[in-house]
Amino acid sequence: MSALPRALLLACAVAAAPTQAAWLSRGVDGIMGTRIYVELWAEDNDKPRGEQAIDAVMDEMRHIDESMSVYKPTSEVSRVNALAAQQPVKISPELFKLLTTALEYSRITEGAFDITYASVGYLYDFRARKRPTEQQIEAALPAVNYRHVLLDPATSTVRFSQPGVRIDLGGIAKGYSVDCGIDILKARGYTHALVNAGGDSRVIGDRFGKPWVIGIRHPDHPDQVITRVPLTDSAFSTSGDYERYFDEGGVRYHHIIDPRTGHSASKVRSATVIAPTATRTDGLSKTAFVLGPDEAIRIYNGLPDVDAILVAPDGRILYTKGLEPPGENAAAASAAH
Ligand code: ADP
Ligand code: MG
Repeated sequence: MSALPRALLLACAVAAAPTQAAWLSRGVDGIMGTRIYVELWAEDNDKPRGEQAIDAVMDEMRHIDESMSVYKPTSEVSRVNALAAQQPVKISPELFKLLTTALEYSRITEGAFDITYASVGYLYDFRARKRPTEQQIEAALPAVNYRHVLLDPATSTVRFSQPGVRIDLGGIAKGYSVDCGIDILKARGYTHALVNAGGDSRVIGDRFGKPWVIGIRHPDHPDQVITRVPLTDSAFSTSGDYERYFDEGGVRYHHIIDPRTGHSASKVRSATVIAPTATRTDGLSKTAFVLGPDEAIRIYNGLPDVDAILVAPDGRILYTKGLEPPGENAAAASAAH
């Protein structure tokens, strides 16, 4: 598996670097069910300090995994899922804040992003090619609605308004952990770095005076890059229907669930979102699968700090207005005359 499976990071032509200073990098598998990759620019004689900084990022990722994974029965989120339908559950300030942010993304995306998708989502097991029956979906669906998650800042508690509600932060925790990793590196004075967790990444600074360049892969051909985007000081997340899925009877069952139907959401093949933080890009990258490319582009265009590149089922590539290639602008302008 490559270090950056989805958004291939393409190294720019390497300019001459000072002799002692160097890029340090490390990839660690098995945290948050994915591979964590960190790369940073260490100045002269800074290598041990750089390695320690990478250790600190990995520790932070493990901590987030411990507290937010639904696959760990002892995690804070598992405790919430077990109890919150019966009583308010006191939670850490960190989880309280992330739940608040998750609910905000539900509102921004008109319900497409919804952590209660898990009320149905837990019935799927993509590795085992397992999916719920229509009756099971129908029975579980009323519990899917982010409005069922009630947060009380006065007591720092969360409560579910009805039985059957489950939450899963799989659609936002990796992005959040990337931001935490970047905060750690910034606090230690690093000004050129990359942190990646599965489909979620963020870069600080540039790479040898040139932007970092992300390549958007073809949904069906992992080695083909369909477009490239230069970036500095940005986060980006790519969601794809080729990540965790199985095909059956000509239908692709994959890991992004439409909260309105309980079925896999298939209105695009992939969505890459670019914004200042990875929490934001992760929270927004599922939207296009649920709402479709045109609605999603409308929402993204309404957010001044967000850009996106979508691959539609027919292979069309759609861009937000900030990223439209000049040719398309010119074509649109001449069509208007
Ligand atoms: P990755 O987990 O590799 O970063 P994504 O960012 O595309 O991939 O997130 C997919 C995950 O989001 C799923 O595995 C699931 O945990 C979660 N998810 C699925 N559907 C939704 C949804 N409608 N809203 C919020 N989270 C979702
Ligand atoms: Mg993600």
